Amino acid sequence: MRRRRTTIFFLILGICLLAITVALNVGWILLNVREVALLIFGIIFFALIITGLTLNTIFLLREIRRNEQHDAFLNAVTHELKTPIASIKLYLDTLLSRDIEPEKRREFYEIMSADNERLLTTVQQVLQASRTREKGRRLDRDELDLGVLLAEAIGILRSRHHLDESAVRLTMPTEPVMITGDFRELQTVFSNLLDNAVKYSPDEVRISIRLTAQSAKYAEVFIKDNGVGIARGDLKRVFKRFYRSSNTRSVPAVKGTGLGLSIVRAIVEKHGGRASASSRGEGRGSTFYVRLPRI
Ligand code: ADP
Repeated sequence: MRRRRTTIFFLILGICLLAITVALNVGWILLNVREVALLIFGIIFFALIITGLTLNTIFLLREIRRNEQHDAFLNAVTHELKTPIASIKLYLDTLLSRDIEPEKRREFYEIMSADNERLLTTVQQVLQASRTREKGRRLDRDELDLGVLLAEAIGILRSRHHLDESAVRLTMPTEPVMITGDFRELQTVFSNLLDNAVKYSPDEVRISIRLTAQSAKYAEVFIKDNGVGIARGDLKRVFKRFYRSSNTRSVPAVKGTGLGLSIVRAIVEKHGGRASASSRGEGRGSTFYVRLPRI
């Protein structure tokens, strides 16, 4: 809140300074209209000062926003690490200090295993994000059947979130859709997108995945959910590193690092493809689109 006020203060200060400079410039021109040479010099210098000031303000604003996003990311990661650790500790302490019936004990083990999975996912995501940013890192270039890859990612999603058959539907052409790429990296792409589709569907989970190969050049995948949707202004921003959209307010229990979609886009682009999002608005579901070159 304090940071927000400071940002607004500096923004207003920047705008006021610009307004004063423009007023000075115009006043000065009016007063010295006869001295043409000086006037031209003056105009050029004032124009330079104004450009400098504008660039400076834009740079400052960008830096402030980046800092805010870093803070939010650190908070999110700390939370994502602390919550499962605290929960595992609690269950372990209970198991150590009391005699627990076998059935209850099994339940505790299952909760601890789920917490452990959550910890692992966070750590893997942070590692994957820095790996994806490594320059010059080479991808494996294997021939892959995209339909098989999607079916596998769906299988993992179903067992991870205990979803029944009807919650996730896959449609694809009868003939295989082949691409070249890195199997593990592409698994990361689709499991991030599918996990998000579940995470941001607070009510009933209904996900449909459509693989098409209508173009000779590209394979296209559409992942559609009926979740909280994305506001129009956020559709591009969600792919930025650390960015978490305001729709996360409608699902406050959902925590995240804001890294998933930036990893998705980086991997897809490394494969010569494209990733984007569309939504009919908040509360009306989202569709994520991935396009990859065919062989
Ligand atoms: P995280 O989920 O860890 O916040 P992501 O990079 O995966 O980070 O997603 C960035 C943001 O995009 C999320 O915070 C969320 O607001 C939005 N988002 C991602 N997937 C969906 C989806 N399927 N439906 C609605 N919003 C989504």
